[in-house]
Amino acid sequence: MNRSILWLGVSILFGVSQAVADNHVDWSYEGETGPAHWGALSEDFVACQNGQLQAPIDIQSTMVGKAANKLKTFYRPSAGDIVNNGHTIQVNLKDGGYAQLAGSRYNILQFHLHTPSEETVNGVRYPMNAHLVHVKQPSSSYDAAPPKLAVIGLFFKEGQENAVLKPVLDAMPTKPGSVSLVSQVDLTDLLPASLAFYSYAGSLTTPACTEGVDFYILKVPVELSPAQLQQFKQIFPMNARPIQRLNGRQVVEGN
Ligand SMILES: [Zn+2]
Repeated sequence: MNRSILWLGVSILFGVSQAVADNHVDWSYEGETGPAHWGALSEDFVACQNGQLQAPIDIQSTMVGKAANKLKTFYRPSAGDIVNNGHTIQVNLKDGGYAQLAGSRYNILQFHLHTPSEETVNGVRYPMNAHLVHVKQPSSSYDAAPPKLAVIGLFFKEGQENAVLKPVLDAMPTKPGSVSLVSQVDLTDLLPASLAFYSYAGSLTTPACTEGVDFYILKVPVELSPAQLQQFKQIFPMNARPIQRLNGRQVVEGN
C-alpha cells in the first residue's frame, strides 16, 4: 500500500475517534446532521436510531389509560442563568423547588423551549412548548442509582404576553452563551390552573436520546404573544424533533 494513502487512512480513523471521544458532535434539526441522521453521528447517539422508548410522541386522547398518581408542584422563586446552547434557550434554575411525581420528589433543574411543540395531541401541534426538566432526589447520599429524570411538558398557544417568559426572551443571548436572570423566576407562575396531564415513558428529545425519562404533558395550554413567539423564532426557527413511534407504549392520564 502506498505510504501516503496509509497515513491518510490512519489520520481519518484518528479524526473520527476523536470526534466521538470529545463529545462535541455537531447535530441540528435539518439536513445532513438532522434528526434522521442523529443515530449515525456518534456511537454515543445510537439510542436516537435504535431506542424503543423515544420522545416526542403524538398522544391519542382516545387511547389513554388512568394514572395511579397525582402531579403536584412546589416551585419557588429562583435565580438562574439564561443559556443559548446552540439548540434552544434554556433557563438553569439554582433553587426553583420541586415537583412530586408518582410519590417521589423531583427537583427542578432547568426549562427550555421548542418551536413548534414537540409533543402533539391527536395530531395537533402547538406553536411552542416548554420542557421543565427535573431530577429525582436520591433517597440517601449513598444512593448509587443513575439520576432519574422527569419532564413536565407545557404547551403554548398564541394570546396574551407571557410574563414569566418576558424577562427570558428579552435578555436571551442571540448567539451561544449565557447571561444571569435579572429577576427571579417562579415556575408556579408559568403553569395553567389545571395540572391535568398525559404521561408516558420516553427519552431525551435531543442527542444522545437517552431513555428512562418520564413525561408529564399538561393538557391545558398557556399563552404567549405572537411577538414573543417571533422573538424566539428569530433565533431558533424550528427546533422540534419529529414524532417517534409508540412501539406499544401506553399513555396514561391523571390530574
Ligand atoms: Zn425539550
